[in-house]
Formats: sequence, structure tokens, C-alpha cells
Amino acid sequence: MEKEIITTANVTCPSCEHVQTAEMPIDACQHFFICQKCEENLNPKDGDCCIFCSYGDSKCPPRQRELPSNEQQQQNAQESADEND
Ligand SMILES: [Zn+2]
Repeated sequence: MEKEIITTANVTCPSCEHVQTAEMPIDACQHFFICQKCEENLNPKDGDCCIFCSYGDSKCPPRQRELPSNEQQQQNAQESADEND
């Protein structure tokens, strides 16, 4: 079963702190972002693959897939144990 991928993020502009919701591309990293308020052109910080990893409240979809999903797996195991009982 594929785990749920978050495809929208709240991006906080480092220049004016304006927060805006943006849709993330599923299979790509977005390397630029224009703040709607101050029109600052955002670029990823060093070591980050995209502006969502740097300024968003969620990692980008490619990163989300790489993360270990231990918590989710434990939850699923508990649920199936209840069903079998
Ligand atoms: Zn801004």
C-alpha cells in the first residue's frame, strides 16, 4: 500500500514572512518560487533539494517517499491485529 503523499505546502517567505499555500510537483523538485507579496525570488538553501524543503512546512514529495514510515507501519500493524482478533 502506498503511503499518502502531501502535495501542498505552506511556504513562508524568508524576506517578508508572508505564508502562501502552494502545490508541489509530485516527481520533481521546485528550485524557485516567487513570493506573491514582496515578489522575492526564493531559492533552496544549501543542502536542500527544493524551496519546499527550505521554506515549506512539508518536505517535497520525492523526499517524503524517502523518509522511513515507522510510525505509519506500527499503526497499520495494530489495525490488522484488531481485525484478526
Ligand atoms: Zn515575501
